[in-house]
Amino acid sequence: MTSTETPFDIFVIGGGINGCGIARDAAGRGYSVYVAEMKDLASGTSSWSTKLVHGGLRYLEHYEFRLVRESLKEREILWAAAPHIIRPLRFVLPHHKGLRPAWLLRLGLFLYDHLGGRKALPPTAVLNMKTDIAGKPLKPLFDKAFEYSDCWVDDARLVALNARSAANHGAVVRTRALVTGAIRENGTWTISVRDEVSGATETIQARAIVNAAGPWVDTVISQVEPKRNARNVRMVQGSHIVVNKLFNHDKCYIFQNSDGRIIFAIPYETDFTLVGTTDKDFVGDPAKAAITPEETDYLCKAVSEYFAKPVTTNDVVWTYSGVRPLFDDGASAAQEATRDYVLRTEGDGETGFLLNIFGGKITTYRRLAESVLTKLETALGPKGPAWTAGVTLPGGDFPITGYDDQVAALMGAYPFLAQRHAKRLVRLYGTDAHVLLGDAPSKDDLGQHFGYDLYEAEVRYLMQHEWVRTPEDLLWRRTKLGLRLTAEEVSTLAAFIDKQSVSHQAAEYPPTLTREATD
Ligand code: FAD
Repeated sequence: MTSTETPFDIFVIGGGINGCGIARDAAGRGYSVYVAEMKDLASGTSSWSTKLVHGGLRYLEHYEFRLVRESLKEREILWAAAPHIIRPLRFVLPHHKGLRPAWLLRLGLFLYDHLGGRKALPPTAVLNMKTDIAGKPLKPLFDKAFEYSDCWVDDARLVALNARSAANHGAVVRTRALVTGAIRENGTWTISVRDEVSGATETIQARAIVNAAGPWVDTVISQVEPKRNARNVRMVQGSHIVVNKLFNHDKCYIFQNSDGRIIFAIPYETDFTLVGTTDKDFVGDPAKAAITPEETDYLCKAVSEYFAKPVTTNDVVWTYSGVRPLFDDGASAAQEATRDYVLRTEGDGETGFLLNIFGGKITTYRRLAESVLTKLETALGPKGPAWTAGVTLPGGDFPITGYDDQVAALMGAYPFLAQRHAKRLVRLYGTDAHVLLGDAPSKDDLGQHFGYDLYEAEVRYLMQHEWVRTPEDLLWRRTKLGLRLTAEEVSTLAAFIDKQSVSHQAAEYPPTLTREATD
């Protein structure tokens, strides 16, 4: 067992979007920060979302104006901070007689256009579905649709980039580090952390704990305050299916279902369509959430009401499920529980400060972090001012409309790259694609080929700079190459990663980038 001597200012439990966003903000203000994630970054809810940076048109029906306004404002702030992993999307909402009336949709979209300081995103439009490309794959039942803007985000990469930025500002970020308990003495916390790979236990001292454990938030409260039986979180499962591409344009659909819910059909990873989601109360270990046959049927039926060619369970190539860690506000139906975040604090700078986070969205993580920092400042004393609005995340230092130029520049610098490969690298790594490729003069210099366009250079980069420890981290979170590699290719990759991990174990993990950090 080892222990630290100088207490950290802040110990963050959980390497999801909220934990990593808070760590980035706090470290950038000058606090000393330690983040412990029990599995991989974004292995909890933060890689299982619908991946929208959105105001949430539906939340207007529940009068969540504060949340919608804050979320709408965040869209353009986050897009500018990470134009590689965030991009604008046009949402097509076919008008369906018998469901929500057109005047209500117009009113909602008017508010959506005007509540949140929209500048670069185009406004709402009305489409003639008989002539617009968006009408083509649908049944000929729809004359009219509304089209509005929101953004798409690679949720798991947003987490990894916040962790990178936090580490660039001096935070210690540990993955496979399970917090097993914490005790408070003389104003300082002593936190027990178990390395899930080696089994070794370490104790870390900190002045404040931020419990950003997502669906595990109540479990952590019970560990930290063993006398309490915390029951604040309402776990709501949401599942998605991925099917082969259902349409040949880059807009996305938002379909109203007869039960009042809405279902998205979103272009996904070039060749696929992502369909989701469901809302179902969940009990048990959130890590074990999995789609049920009823959910798959529900999603297939819901989109088949709209698409001319029905979607069946045979079309499904991948599924995923996540658990929303919503604050239990007593709403009767899962879909009605508030999506807003709630912060609860205990203690102060003298007694040891604990802050528990409930709810929240990917979209609002940066604002949530600012609210958390306001409370931490009161307990710990102020450091630097709020700084994350207007500062890019790693690899995002190019204009919001600059993706094609970045692809062209990368192909210019590395003429051996195929366009598909260059596009994928810029989408994932932005300007850091140049760091990943280094001074490779030819494809052969990228090292071992693992299938599709995955080469050793990318694997090494992800292991060195983004905490990748297993094939799953790489194939399903840092990238989505899990959709492309065969089982045989995955085992070759696993053997390579295993061999590299052994040589990494003694080193500080992960080493920092040699290139000047972009934030
Ligand atoms: P998590 O991502 O779950 O992170 C918590 C982390 O804590 C986990 O990685 C876990 O391993 C770790 N942890 C737990 N206990 C311990 C411990 N004892 N020691 C160390 N580590 C621990 N939001 C949007 O903005 N847009 C969307 O389109 C959207 N769609 C969604 C769709 C679905 C189906 C779901 C489920 C959610 C969606 N959300 C969306 C909401 C969003 O995904 C979540 O609010 C957000 O990811 C929660 O992040 P978090 O960091 O609080 O939790």
